[in-house]
Amino acid sequence: MHYINQTIKKLTDRYKKISQVGKIQSILDWDMNVNLPPKGADERATQIAFLTELQTEYWQDPQFKTLLYKAREDGNLTSAEKAMVRNLLRLGKYYFNVPQEIIVEKSETTTKAFMAWQKSKTDDSFKDFLPHLKKVIALNRIIAQHLGYKKNPYDALLELYEPGLTTQFCAEIFTRLKPQLITLLGKIQKSAAYKQSTILDSSMVHYPVHDQKQLTSFILQKMGYDFNAGRVDTSAHPFESPLGRSDVRITTWYHEDDLRDSFYSSMHEAGHALYEQGIDPDYDNTPLEGGVSFAIHESQSRFWENQVGRDPNFIEFIAPIFQAFYPEQLGKVDLYSLTRFLNQVRPGPIRVEADEVTYNLHIALRFELEEQLINNKLQAEDLPEIWKTKMKKYFKIEPANDREGVLQDVHWSLGYFGYFPTYTLGNLYAAQIHRVMRSEIQTYDESLKKGELGTVLYWLRDKIHRHGSMYWPSELIQNITGEKLNPRYFIDYLGVKYSHIYKTELP
Ligand code: MG
Repeated sequence: MHYINQTIKKLTDRYKKISQVGKIQSILDWDMNVNLPPKGADERATQIAFLTELQTEYWQDPQFKTLLYKAREDGNLTSAEKAMVRNLLRLGKYYFNVPQEIIVEKSETTTKAFMAWQKSKTDDSFKDFLPHLKKVIALNRIIAQHLGYKKNPYDALLELYEPGLTTQFCAEIFTRLKPQLITLLGKIQKSAAYKQSTILDSSMVHYPVHDQKQLTSFILQKMGYDFNAGRVDTSAHPFESPLGRSDVRITTWYHEDDLRDSFYSSMHEAGHALYEQGIDPDYDNTPLEGGVSFAIHESQSRFWENQVGRDPNFIEFIAPIFQAFYPEQLGKVDLYSLTRFLNQVRPGPIRVEADEVTYNLHIALRFELEEQLINNKLQAEDLPEIWKTKMKKYFKIEPANDREGVLQDVHWSLGYFGYFPTYTLGNLYAAQIHRVMRSEIQTYDESLKKGELGTVLYWLRDKIHRHGSMYWPSELIQNITGEKLNPRYFIDYLGVKYSHIYKTELP
């Protein structure tokens, strides 16, 4: 990028260092999750802590802050420059307002809490994780006070993950979604199709990993993932790691008893990766690089996973390919059974295994608990009980133990309070974007039936990917769809799709 404004030039030069350190840190993180031998964990934690400190120093450099505040007052900025300043002010807020000793304490606390969580989960022992969790919550409350907020301290934490997100907005969304999702789930569960089981439901069906790997390569190529600007590995939990636009790595997992896990995780993570690979090269190493927010990022991954990958039209295309890979397992399965299998609705205790209908109920539960924890309306020791109560209320099931309940997610051990709601927003954005895309691409259904995904990618590139962090989520969704985020489209999408698949009436 070429800069005329000297303040912006100096600011972006300094930002480049922050960006580079962040990417080096991401490589260490990626390596830790993909390659690291167990004995290397301590040394790696020290290396990552060192980079965190270095990055904090860059952010907290008084000259950087002076330049940024000067730029904020400049009335002659271009729209790109204004967006840069806006992004830096938002990203810098944490470092400008939270004292360095708290930042360091949080980093140390969460490293220990993460290790404690792993062991507690294996041992199914919440009481061993509890002291760590209490410390993480206390630190998050302190951080919220330093960041400042208008109404609710939880707002300050939400804002760290999604620009402008508030407790009230989330509460309104979940109040609207919850009864609709519970009603739809009830309808599906009463349908005859729900009760029918096929050979696919049996855990005796075996899908060798070797073939799953080939299927992963196949679908990523179809989607347009650039293998020369990324790579695919295996990890305990799938993730995407952007190390710059030209090196966007993803991981997946392979479970021999269920081919859906690797197939849809790969599509999901590649959806994140396509976003990063498609950003305007002019934005490289500037404050406009990278996807704009967690929710918009998740909208892209969920779009490929659900709106494309689980669309009955696309399943028409993929079914014979699955059958060619697994003739003995799937050769005799009809298209309808396969479509239902790939869109199976089943309330279960585990969030990452949840279907489209129940997924956001898992998030509602976590949102409600986090809000109460941060506001001291709920104590951490009471979590296992209230978790069970809410599971019964929303899903009519109870987790067998804490490993399947309060200990299942990594987020709280890492200190990520305020992160979960971005998953739901991502689902809502995806449905709203899907509706507009279908109205603009007349051949959408036909393209999916033929497995021609180029038009989908081209559309997303044009409307979303190339813009990087130029527009905030609220502007972006307005530009694309002509209105602000509206949960109605997600509710409509689920109702139409699942009443069709389960042959039941719309709720
Ligand atoms: Mg994701």
